[in-house]
Amino acid sequence: MYLYNSASRRKEEFVPNHPDIVKMYTCGPTVYHFAHIGNLRSYIMEDVLEKFLRYEGYHVKRVMNITDVGHLASDADTGEDKMLQGARREHKSVMDIAAFYTNAFFADCDKLHIKRPDVVEPATSCISDYINIISTLMEKEYAYVSGGNVYFDTSKLERYYIFNDHDAEDLAVGVREGVEEDKNKRNKNDFVLWFTQSKFEDQALKWDSPWGVGYPGWHIECSGISMKHLGEDLDIHCGGIDNAFPHHTNEIAQSEAFLGHKWCNYWMHVLHLNTNSGKMSKSKGEFLTVSLLEEKGYDPLAYRLFCLQSHYRKALVFSWENLDNAQGTYNKLIARIAALTPDGSVDQDVFQAQREKFRKALGNDLNTSLGITALYDVLKAPASSATKLALLEDFDQVLGLGLLEKAAAKREADAKIPASAQSAGGIVITGEGDPDIDALVLQRAQAKKEKNFQEADRIREELKARGIEVVDTKEGASWRRI
Ligand code: AMP
Ligand code: ZN
Repeated sequence: MYLYNSASRRKEEFVPNHPDIVKMYTCGPTVYHFAHIGNLRSYIMEDVLEKFLRYEGYHVKRVMNITDVGHLASDADTGEDKMLQGARREHKSVMDIAAFYTNAFFADCDKLHIKRPDVVEPATSCISDYINIISTLMEKEYAYVSGGNVYFDTSKLERYYIFNDHDAEDLAVGVREGVEEDKNKRNKNDFVLWFTQSKFEDQALKWDSPWGVGYPGWHIECSGISMKHLGEDLDIHCGGIDNAFPHHTNEIAQSEAFLGHKWCNYWMHVLHLNTNSGKMSKSKGEFLTVSLLEEKGYDPLAYRLFCLQSHYRKALVFSWENLDNAQGTYNKLIARIAALTPDGSVDQDVFQAQREKFRKALGNDLNTSLGITALYDVLKAPASSATKLALLEDFDQVLGLGLLEKAAAKREADAKIPASAQSAGGIVITGEGDPDIDALVLQRAQAKKEKNFQEADRIREELKARGIEVVDTKEGASWRRI
């Protein structure tokens, strides 16, 4: 398989260090708030990568951290710890905040069919591993103490700017918006390995260290956790594109200085989910969550499909209209699969030929949108339903769209629709068995679908006046007398 490697800026054939195992590391969430659907775009694509590697027959060991300390408001080590900000906002302890948002994160992942990594490690449980790495960096003179903090000295490296798509201006910490220059640094790109600075006196969690009581910098956790569980080398490291600099650059600097050799071979970065007003971000406070999508009647898996329809190395623009389209596509896809009744046997030649198309798409730097095209090709193919269903099940091991489960659920739900139900253009109306009311409710659902909200509201009022309550459903609407 071929994967674009941000470190070489080329698509490269993927060859793991050890033939029997792929070691994969993912930067986990900072658990001071809910994950937004932008963060989850990154986790969906990383999930597809892991699943495709397994589909290709690799054994994968995947490790992810949970950032529950040390990620300051600015990635350049200034401002407050984000966890502390979260705790203050909600009048809770940092540990309570971490537990709550970690659980919320995995609940969202479950809804999006994102598999839990083999190892999930909170940053706060590996402090001795970081102290060990920092001590070696001090011995090797890659680190220095200044103003109470321990810094990594980037001038000691032959090469620092590993993901060189940032220009000098971006890197000049002093000129970036909202980033104060830290006078303790010897070089502008030096970064904190261990904080003891008195200005963080109210930091909730602190540990003893050879350099005083304090807490780790953000970057050291990923090096420490990766090495603890995956050893001295790593095949693939993933994250969103904003992690490339400074986070991943600094991870490489400290890991390779510590180890004395190359650390990770492939770097995968997912481009951002943006709205019309820019990057979706947690710190801005206004963002979309999976729960919000559900409240608005969307299936989280329609969002997963929306992400898979585009390539992970292109920025993706979110709009409600785009999501409506994805939901419509998803519904139709499930309806088509639900209409397939298993017959005959699986035609092995067709199965292998279609499977190859899918493998080729995903094997070309995870071209998921071509993978979806391969899925439609299966539905269109002149093959038995048994063959089609076997292929859909096979592809869904990677796509994770719940195709067969959702189709089975739809068949079951359809069987329960009472005789009075009306259905037209994919809209299903259920009610108490009055064809006149069914027709009005259907008209309203059609108006809504056409975004004629004025007409939809008018019909709702008319129904209300007749003592009818309408509830929107995934398929259309249902009504009852009140
Ligand atoms: P955080 O919880 O802020 O540490 O971020 C968790 C993950 O989401 C990281 O891999 C980020 O790079 C990624 N991320 C942050 N914002 C976005 C976005 N708008 N679109 C896609 N990924 C993002
Ligand atoms: Zn990381």
